[in-house]
Amino acid sequence: MKIIRDDAKRVFVLVPFTEVERETFSRLMSTIKPGDTFRYGGRQDDGDEGKYCKIFLHFGSKPRKRTRTKGCVTVHSTELVGGIRVTIQGTSNDDKAEVGGIRDAVYFGGCQPVFMGAAKIEGKDAFVISLGLCQQCRSPMIGLRECEWAICNVCAGKCQHEYKNGMVHGGAAGSGAMGEYCSKCGRGKPGSVDESKSDAVHKLEIERKLGICWIYTNTPFSPAEIVRMEEAARVMQN
Ligand SMILES: [Zn+2]
Ligand SMILES: [Zn+2]
Repeated sequence: MKIIRDDAKRVFVLVPFTEVERETFSRLMSTIKPGDTFRYGGRQDDGDEGKYCKIFLHFGSKPRKRTRTKGCVTVHSTELVGGIRVTIQGTSNDDKAEVGGIRDAVYFGGCQPVFMGAAKIEGKDAFVISLGLCQQCRSPMIGLRECEWAICNVCAGKCQHEYKNGMVHGGAAGSGAMGEYCSKCGRGKPGSVDESKSDAVHKLEIERKLGICWIYTNTPFSPAEIVRMEEAARVMQN
């Protein structure tokens, strides 16, 4: 399907492309109403370099607990049964990149995608979803930070921020750094992250202040070891 991100309206417009997608779309349209929500039903790669670029949204499904035992290992999981499963999968590279953003906002942000209505794009049937609604003004949201705190960017802009110290992420903080964030809307305090410090220094501060052990997946070294190497390199250069 074609996935069009509308930043101004804070929605995604999804245009079914294949026969299967169009068939799912008609089944969905016969039962769904604006304001109805989807449940996230996991993701899958498309075999292309193992990238996760396919996610499933379920409408009208019921969660069911499932227990599977193999040898001495028992796995408890929840699966969605019944209803309509919509596969969100891009056709171009741009579309595929959008799928990752949708998944992160839904999975990490913990919001439920909302059906906003049907649309026509260049004569083709399409449907419009947002990834959640603001708890203050009920506006649609599509960003991870918005969904994570259930407060849209407009309401966050009007927030009387109450900053506190803690771990922040995104922007200058990258995957995580100590800084200040608002305990009401979750937005970071501008300039609260010291950008002159290296990533390993930020991670070491997180370990020391919050007791969270940071493990890099692209190097066997710990933040403390990397900081020692960076210091040694600095001494050699001087
Ligand atoms: Zn709002
Ligand atoms: Zn705030």
